[in-house]
Formats: sequence, C-alpha cells, structure tokens
Amino acid sequence: MTKRKITIAAVGITLVVLTAIVALLWTQCGTRGHDKREKQGNYWVIDHPTPNITPGRNRVQGVVLHHTATFRIQDALGGLCSPKRQVSCHALIDRDGTRYILASPDKITHHAGNSMLDGKAWCNKFTIGIEFQGNTCNRPLTEAQINSAIDYLLPIIRKYGIPINKIVTHQQVRDNWLAAHPDRKDVPAKVDITPAEHQRFIQALKARLQADK
Ligand SMILES: [Zn+2]
Repeated sequence: MTKRKITIAAVGITLVVLTAIVALLWTQCGTRGHDKREKQGNYWVIDHPTPNITPGRNRVQGVVLHHTATFRIQDALGGLCSPKRQVSCHALIDRDGTRYILASPDKITHHAGNSMLDGKAWCNKFTIGIEFQGNTCNRPLTEAQINSAIDYLLPIIRKYGIPINKIVTHQQVRDNWLAAHPDRKDVPAKVDITPAEHQRFIQALKARLQADK
C-alpha cells in the first residue's frame, strides 16, 4: 500500500470508531433529543422508555414514592435506564415538574427490591414507582413536583381504585420487609422520602381529590 492509501485507511478507521463512540454516548445519554415531549397541563411530559422491565403484568394495588438522591436529573435518568444497573420506575419527576415517563403502569419496573406492603413481598409486581428528583433529607419536594405527580397519579388512582393508604414510601415498604427478615443484616434501612414530605404529598393529593369531586 502506498503511504497515501494508508493515511486514507487510517482516517476511515478513525471516523468509524468516532461514530461508534458518539452513537454509544448518544444512547446512554439521559435526555435524548428524539424523546417525544408535550405539554400536559402546566408541565412537560417526556416519553423516555426504560429497558429495565420484567415480563408479566403489573397488578397495580399501590404506589411507592422515592427520591433519586442524585444531584442531576441526567444521572437519575441514566441510572433508571441502564441495563447494567437494572433499576427503573414508571415516572421520574424533575424539580420543575417535568415528567419523564419510563414505563406504562401495566409494566413491572424495578424500583422497590426488598419490599413488603400489607404482608405481600416484592412490591414491584403490584405497585407504581415514582421517583422525585433530589433528596428529601436535604430539600423538600417542590410544589411543581407534587402537582405534576398528582396530575400523573389521578387517572391511575381512579383506574385501579388505589386507596390513599396504599400510597407509601420506599422507606416504609423496605422497613416492612426488614421487620419480616430480621436476619438480613446485609440490607440496610434508608430514608427514601422523609415521613414529613410523604405527609405533605398525601395532604396535597387529598385536597386535589376533594376539589375534583
Ligand atoms: Zn427508592
């Protein structure tokens, strides 16, 4: 091969490698440009399907609330869509109320691992998982987050007939599971939505249910 041909080949290979890297980064990126987005009420709603779904149908009986504990929404979204991490939820709600829809309610997502509600283990199979961006140990939920989550939940609550006392926190369902498995010292307790912020959310939801009657 001439020197010129070798140079052209080297440039070609470099371009192919660079294209592959950009494509990989694009698919891993938290907010992909081609996600469908539309304004529903006061908030943006963005379709961002997660691959982390378990086959089968979600027998929806309750809702588990979480906070992401990440600084950036992109980190939360990336984690909830990473096949490596294998975690997910149905909706992620940013501080400004923007909702990322990762899965439809009938899908089983991976948000509550070791968990128990009303004596039934493995809440992923029968609950909706909502992640709020931020950490309620440091900062309360924003009004926009609460209102956007209620916009999302009202039709689900009505469709599945979910009672208010089945809208719980990750901390509660994990504590239930830990109480039933005292030998499992490898699963640490954690605050995932503080009791105060849970109460704030429930009060706001009750007020909306009352107003919408
Ligand atoms: Zn959680």
